[in-house]
Amino acid sequence: DVADLPGVPEWLPDHLRDDGIEELYPPQAEAVEAGVTEGENLVASIPTASGKTLIAELAMLSSVARGGKALYIVPLRALASEKQADFEEFEQYGLDIGVSTGNYESEGGWLADKDIVVATSEKVDSLVRNDAPWIEDLTCVVTDEVHLVDDGERGPTLEVTLAKLRRLNPDLQTVALSATIGNAEALATWLDAGLVDSDWRPIELQKGVHYGQALHLEDGSQQRLSVQNNEKQTAAIVRDTLEDDGSTLVFVNSRRNAEAAAGRLANTVRPHLSTEERDQLADIAEEIRDVSDTETSDELADAVADGAAFHHAGLSRGHRELVEEAFRDRLVKVVCATPTLAAGVNTPSRRVVVRDWRRYDGSAGGMAPLSVLEVHQMMGRAGRPGLDPYGEAVLIASSHDEVDELFERYVWADPEPVRSKLAAEPALRTHILATVASGFARSREGLLEFLEQTLYASQTDDSSQLERVVDDVLTYLQRNDFLEIEAGELDATSLGHTVSRLYLDPMSAAEIVDGLRDWERGASDSTSASGSPAETPAEAPADSGFTTASELAEEANGSDDPDRDPDDISALGLFHLVSRTPDMYQLYLRSGDREEYEMELFEREEELLGPTPSEFEEGRFEDWLSALKTARLLEDWATEVDEATITERYGVGPGDIRGKVETAQWLLGAAESLASEVDLDAARAISEARIRVEHGVREELVDLAGVRGVGRKRARRLFQAGITDRAQLRDADKAVVLAALRGRRKTAENVLESAGHRDPSMEGVEPAPDVSVDLD
Ligand code: ADP
Repeated sequence: DVADLPGVPEWLPDHLRDDGIEELYPPQAEAVEAGVTEGENLVASIPTASGKTLIAELAMLSSVARGGKALYIVPLRALASEKQADFEEFEQYGLDIGVSTGNYESEGGWLADKDIVVATSEKVDSLVRNDAPWIEDLTCVVTDEVHLVDDGERGPTLEVTLAKLRRLNPDLQTVALSATIGNAEALATWLDAGLVDSDWRPIELQKGVHYGQALHLEDGSQQRLSVQNNEKQTAAIVRDTLEDDGSTLVFVNSRRNAEAAAGRLANTVRPHLSTEERDQLADIAEEIRDVSDTETSDELADAVADGAAFHHAGLSRGHRELVEEAFRDRLVKVVCATPTLAAGVNTPSRRVVVRDWRRYDGSAGGMAPLSVLEVHQMMGRAGRPGLDPYGEAVLIASSHDEVDELFERYVWADPEPVRSKLAAEPALRTHILATVASGFARSREGLLEFLEQTLYASQTDDSSQLERVVDDVLTYLQRNDFLEIEAGELDATSLGHTVSRLYLDPMSAAEIVDGLRDWERGASDSTSASGSPAETPAEAPADSGFTTASELAEEANGSDDPDRDPDDISALGLFHLVSRTPDMYQLYLRSGDREEYEMELFEREEELLGPTPSEFEEGRFEDWLSALKTARLLEDWATEVDEATITERYGVGPGDIRGKVETAQWLLGAAESLASEVDLDAARAISEARIRVEHGVREELVDLAGVRGVGRKRARRLFQAGITDRAQLRDADKAVVLAALRGRRKTAENVLESAGHRDPSMEGVEPAPDVSVDLD
C-alpha cells in the first residue's frame, strides 16, 4: 500500500492516489524492500511499461526528503523533456526541477539550486569535466535504460560517467533501471547494488507470429486473421485491430520504410474514421504543416489527416510531439516507427507489429537481425493497462519456415547479456584525456585503477587488452600535445584541458588544429599529426604513374604562397574541416554521388584545409568526399537555400538539417577556442562561418539575423527593403519594416524592440506600398 512507504515525503501517498496508484506493482514493492527509499543502491531489470519511473521517483524523492539532491540520466535528449514534464508534477510540493541539455561547455551553475536534475550522460560527463560544483552535492543518481552501456558509441560515456560520479561522492545512492536483460546480476555486482530482476507486467502480453491467414500465438493457439486481396500482412493486422476499435504501432527498419508504410496504411485506416475524427485530424494535419514547409512535413500531414503517421529521428521535435499526442488521444490509429520510439517515449497501443526484424548494418556489410532485447522492448509497448484487455505483439513471417525461426529467435528467446564496450580506442581516447584533465588519475597506474571501477573491468579477467589500448591512447595523446608524461606523471597540457572542456574527441581537435595550421603554412610541406596510431594510412604506391589527388592539391596549394591570409578561409573550407572530424555524422555517399563529389572536389579543392588524401587510401578518400557532401549541405543552408530544396537534394529530413547545423555550430565554436589556444589567427573567419550556419544566412545578413525574432527569411526581406544591419533596423522607418515583414504588426514590434528601436509600437502605421510590391 502506498501509505506504507518508509522514507518518502509525507505528501507522496496522497499524490499517488490522485494519480490512480493505490498499491505498488510487485517489482516496485521489491525495490522498496531492497531499500530504494532508504538510500540503498539498486539495479531494476524489468519489462517496458512496468513502472520503472515510479521506482526512480521513490529513490529521488526520499533522497531529497533527507536533504539531498538527485540526478536522473536519460539516454536521449528527446526523453529529457518527457521526464521533466513527469517530475514537474512535484513542483507543487516545493521541489525544483532542472533540465540540462544545450551547450557542452557550460558548467550549469544555475542547476545548483535544483532538487532534481535531468540530463543525458554526455551532458553529465561534460558537467563533470567543467567542474560543476554542485556535482559533489548529489546524493542520488538514477540511470534510465542502463542496458545501453552495451552501445558501442554511447555506452562507454555512461560507464565512465557513473564511475566518476561514484568516486566523487562515495555515499552516492546509485539506481540503475534496465530493460530485461540476460545478465542483470552483472550490473548489480558492478554497482554494488541490490537487484530486482522480474518479468512481471501490468497487462498480459501475448507474443506471436503472423503468416498466411493466421496469427500463431505463443500459448500454442491460433487466431484467424485473414489477408484480403492485394493486402499486405501488416495492413490486415491493422484493419483487424481497427475493427476491434484498437490502435497499432508498427516497427520498421528505416525512415523511408516508415514513411512509405504510413502512406499505405492511411488507406486502411481512412474508412474507419468518424466525421468528427476526420475534422480533428484535419486540424492536427494543419498544425503539422505549420511546423515546417518541407516534403516530410507534407507527407506526414497527409497521412495524419487519414489517421496514420510515421515517427523517426528525422522528424523535428514539434512533429514528434504532435504525432505522439494524437496517438495517445487515439485519433491517429497507426504509427509506423523506427526503433528509436521503442527506447522510451511512452506510447502504448493495443497491438505492436514488428514488421522488419532485420536492418541494414554497415559493420556487418548487409542486413543483420535485431537483438532480442530490442525486439522485446518494441513488443513491450503493446497493451495499455486499464484500457485494453491485453496486448498483442506480432512478428511478420514471409514463409512457413520463418514462423518457426521467429519463434525460436525472438518469441521464446531470452534477451542477450549486456557487455561493456569500453576497451575500444575511440572511446578511451576521449575518456582518458578527460579523466586525466579533471584530476581523476595522475599516472598510468592511477588511470588503470580508475578504470577498475568500470563495468568492463568487472566483466573481464584479462586486463591486458585494456592495458594495451590505454598505452596506445596515451601515446596518441602525448604525440598530439594533449598530455605530457614526465617521470611517470600524467598531466594534461593547456590544449588538452581545452579539448576536454569543449567535449571534443581529441581526434577531432587534432584534425581541426592540423587543418588550420596547414592553411597557415600553405599546406605544401605539411605532415599531418592526426590519425590514430592503429590507423596509419597506407601510402600510395610511389611509382604508380598516376598523379594522385594529393599531388594535385600540393600543386594547387602551391609552395609559392606560404602565408595565406586566415581571413581568406572560405566557409566551405571550414564546414569541410569540421565535417571530417569524428564528432560529425557525415552524410553517406549514395550511388552516383561519388562522381558528383569528385568533380566538386576537383573544382573547390583549393578551399579545403589540408592535403586531400590520395585516391589509393580508399577509406580516407571516401571519408573526405562524404565530408564534402556534408559541407555542401551546410553551405547551402548558409546561403539561404530553402529547407525543402535541401531535404530533396541530400535525401535527408528537416530534423537531420537541424542536427548537422547544431553540430557544426558547436564544432566551429570549439574551433574558435582551439585557434586562439594554439595562436592561430583564424578566429574571425571561423566566427563568421559559425554565425552563418547558426542562422542559415549569407555573409551580408550575419548582423541582421542575429537580432532576436528575425531569422533567415525575415533578415533577407529586411535587407531587400534596404535595411542592411542592426543599426539601420534600430533607426528604421517603421512603415518600411512593416511592409518588409508582410504587414505582421506583432512581429514587426518584437523585432524593432529587440533591435533597440526608440518606439517599436506599430499603432497607426501602414506598410509602405512600394516595398511590399517589390517583395512579392
Ligand atoms: P517504464 O518506465 O517501466 O516503461 P512507466 O514508468 O512509464 O514504465 O509506467 C507505465 C505506466 O504505469 C505509467 O502510466 C504509470 O503511471 C503506470 N503505473 C506505474 N506504477 C503503477 C502502479 N503501482 N499502479 C498503477 N499504475 C502504475
